[in-house]
Parts: sequence; C-alpha cells; structure tokens
Amino acid sequence: MKDHPSQWIHSGLTCRDLTNQASEYLDDRLPILTKVRVGLHLASCAHCRTYVKQIDLVSSTLRSLPKLYPSPVNRLCLRQQFVASHTN
Ligand SMILES: [Zn+2]
Repeated sequence: MKDHPSQWIHSGLTCRDLTNQASEYLDDRLPILTKVRVGLHLASCAHCRTYVKQIDLVSSTLRSLPKLYPSPVNRLCLRQQFVASHTN
C-alpha cells in the first residue's frame, strides 16, 4: 500500500519542510500536490499556521509599501525565529 495516494499525501511533510516552502506556498508557486500536503499540515499544526500567517502579513505589508525592505531578508529572519522557537 505504499503508493496509495492518500498515504503519499500524508507522509513526510515536517514543520521544517513547511517553513522552507511557506513563501512558495503563499506566492502560489508550488505544484498542486505539494500545496495539498502543505494545506493538510497546516490543518493539523497551529505552529505552522501562525508562521504562515506571519509570513503572509509581512509579505502583504511589504507589497503595500514602497520598497523599503527586501522581503527575502524578512522571510529569512522570520524563519530563523520560527526554527529557534519550534525545534523538536
Ligand atoms: Zn508544523
């Protein structure tokens, strides 16, 4: 049963994977199956929901402002904070 689609979708997406893909997820740059996996992880993980919400907030704030800050730096900073506070 290891190739069963629903099992494949549920397998293997860790919080660290999610933080690595959060920007692509918000920018809608992920393949559909990866998006589904991210969505499923978010449904069951409050930490990552908070993280994605923060990234989304930062991104949309930056989009509405003149280009004062390069967003990759902010995203990297958020990711480092997240990883530091949420490693297990
Ligand atoms: Zn998570």
